[in-house]
Amino acid sequence: MRNRMIAGNWKMNETFAEGVELAQGIVDQLASGTGNVDVVIAPPLVDLKGVSEVLTQANSSVALSAQNVYWEESGAFTGETSPAMLTSVGATYCIIGHSERRGYFGETDEDINRKAKALMAHDIVPISCCGESLEVRNAGTHVQFVVDQIKADTKGLEITDPSKYVIAYEPIWAIGTGMTATADDAQEVCGAIRKTLVEIFGAEIADGIRILYGGSAKPENVGGFLEKEDVDGALVGGASLKAGSFVAMVKSAMN
Ligand code: PEP
Repeated sequence: MRNRMIAGNWKMNETFAEGVELAQGIVDQLASGTGNVDVVIAPPLVDLKGVSEVLTQANSSVALSAQNVYWEESGAFTGETSPAMLTSVGATYCIIGHSERRGYFGETDEDINRKAKALMAHDIVPISCCGESLEVRNAGTHVQFVVDQIKADTKGLEITDPSKYVIAYEPIWAIGTGMTATADDAQEVCGAIRKTLVEIFGAEIADGIRILYGGSAKPENVGGFLEKEDVDGALVGGASLKAGSFVAMVKSAMN
């Protein structure tokens, strides 16, 4: 049985003070608990420590995620952040392979695979993103495209606890555009991802890995995605920047 997950990706939004305020709002509105829904927020790097303190002070079950990591342990890698540094500020999850990082910063599947291995060696849960462009979707090759990403991104990973590896299927054409995939579109690809995971890791592990949908998910549409067999939650961008809409999505997942 997979716990549902709602994860908020704040991207490059919220200064330190704004981030602390947003986190406080989320924590306050979720003070009565989140049932068996795992809730994760991913502020920008400079907000992590402040948000971590908000979560700790409130004794909140909301977990903290980073948005990126570098795979080396330490050293001359200006501007980068190691897994141990993320742990030191309380992050227990990290988004990797977001299409914005692949697209603007040239990240490859090989990079994403190295990041996953480094995170898992430090017991940080990767939220590993995949998804096709509009061009690929229009060519009708989106399922194979995503399956190939999954194979490359998970190459050589050893997953013993399936709750410690999360995949987010995010069709690029639906991210921040207001264009959502339908719930059936999401199930088509998430179902193919699950089958691929069965081939790689076996049924028992594959059944426990959460697969999230991302792409203009909001309170009004998240329920439809969650009804689908292989969609276990949502990775939320825009709608995670207001405590009210993010919490509404968590509550929807609790039903
Ligand atoms: C995202 O950035 O992961 C995302 C899904 O963004 P949005 O919800 O704004 O489309």
